[in-house]
Amino acid sequence: MAITGLTDPSLFTESCLVAGEWIGAGTGASIPVTDPADGSVIAAVPSLDTAAVRRAIDAAEAAQKNWAKRSAKERAGLIRRWYELIVANADDLARILTAEQGKPLAEAKGEIVANAAYLEWFAEEAKRVYGDIVPPPGADRRILVMKQPVGVCAAITPWNFPNGMITRKAGPALAAGCSIVVKPASQTPLSALSLGVLAERAGIPAGVFQVVTGKAREIGTEFTANPKVAKISFTGSTEVGRWLMREGAATIKRLSLELGGNAPFIVFEDADLDAAVEGAMIAKFRNSGQTCVCANRIYVHESLADAFAQKLAAAADGLKVGRGTEAGVTQGPLIDEAAVAKMEEHLRNALDNGARLVTGGGRHELGGTFFQPTVLSGVTQAMKLAHEETFAPLAPIIPFASEADVVAMANDTEFGLAAYFYTRDLARMFRVAEALESGIVGVNSGLIANEMAPFGGYKQSGLGREGSKYGIEEYLETKYVCVAGL
Ligand code: ADP
Repeated sequence: MAITGLTDPSLFTESCLVAGEWIGAGTGASIPVTDPADGSVIAAVPSLDTAAVRRAIDAAEAAQKNWAKRSAKERAGLIRRWYELIVANADDLARILTAEQGKPLAEAKGEIVANAAYLEWFAEEAKRVYGDIVPPPGADRRILVMKQPVGVCAAITPWNFPNGMITRKAGPALAAGCSIVVKPASQTPLSALSLGVLAERAGIPAGVFQVVTGKAREIGTEFTANPKVAKISFTGSTEVGRWLMREGAATIKRLSLELGGNAPFIVFEDADLDAAVEGAMIAKFRNSGQTCVCANRIYVHESLADAFAQKLAAAADGLKVGRGTEAGVTQGPLIDEAAVAKMEEHLRNALDNGARLVTGGGRHELGGTFFQPTVLSGVTQAMKLAHEETFAPLAPIIPFASEADVVAMANDTEFGLAAYFYTRDLARMFRVAEALESGIVGVNSGLIANEMAPFGGYKQSGLGREGSKYGIEEYLETKYVCVAGL
């Protein structure tokens, strides 16, 4: 099979990258990949058995030793070259991404370029992995602190950012001197495989970056049970994160977990209303509402709630729903029927309990999994969507009376990934930023992730951080060397 319109068709592959070899499904089991815009099958990737996954881990172990021995400058050069190839091929990679995931081409390219920047950043950070010399307790000894790579890493990535969630993990892993085996989501493996093509082309040695596809539970079991895997980095649901922790306990896996969110988006009475609407549009409707940092609950001060609802609905009506490859489209389809079912369930529950529809509210006339961007007013904290992640283009507006009330409602969740608020009051800015129980806080902005900043959650939204100087620590061990008898 093929994806049309690629300048370089060799970026599309249906084979996995294991130990420097490309392995197709052949006559073995395979997994179909569909275009969510029309449900058509666009590719089939191998459903690898456990022996193949184990072979990848063995190759990763062998390759890692040599990779770690290379100078940081040398590793940095190769990672940088990979970054440059991704940026140079971003249009083709975007076509591949849109074909399997549905998001508009411009958004796909945005994901690719913005997250390739993690490779650029960590290529630079590779050269700045410093240790310490610490004052000793006696004159006859010295204390040295060294940073060393954790070893073989495994990554499990989701379908909502099929390309970006991989470079975010591979960047710091490779920079630190680790190797990494990636298992992409079964819905979106093609972006991962295309990254493998470019990694090879960049000169990343065989076994340092590998991609395996297959049954999630089987691969997850091998990743968690295999003692050669030192660390797992996972982005996905809290449920699977819990499972990985339980399974990984047997071999004391190091874990980075980027899990579910339930982001509050608060508009205080002193906010710039138009800026807040603009921020809410990005925080809510980007990727058709399918990001873990998407605004799930929009709290607006009661004095502004009606005006905000009208403006947000007008902006939502201006979105263009359609196939991601069509010019001007800003909202692609949802990933699958289950995603639509969850949106409909949350919508029904809210309407049954007194919420009012301001705009949208149903499936789009295009059919399939296309849904109308929807705004609800008069929502309350008691409704289902206030406690569960909707992951769809549904914007519920919950009015509030006081800062204390809204902070309490915002924190009333087991999640703590992102939170947003709009205010022009400096004291409030610090008070609320400190009071919100979340790892990422956007003040007067609805778009806050970048490679220079630490991304990660409080509470049950996960463990560890991606991006920034903190991100590389996740892939490093700290060794204390005591030199005595001096
Ligand atoms: P989502 O709701 O985004 O699909 P999941 O947590 O189910 O969230 O999926 C995220 C990633 O985790 C995907 O790559 C998926 O295949 C993988 N996954 C799902 N279940 C397991 C499992 N038991 N072990 C390992 N990986 C899993």
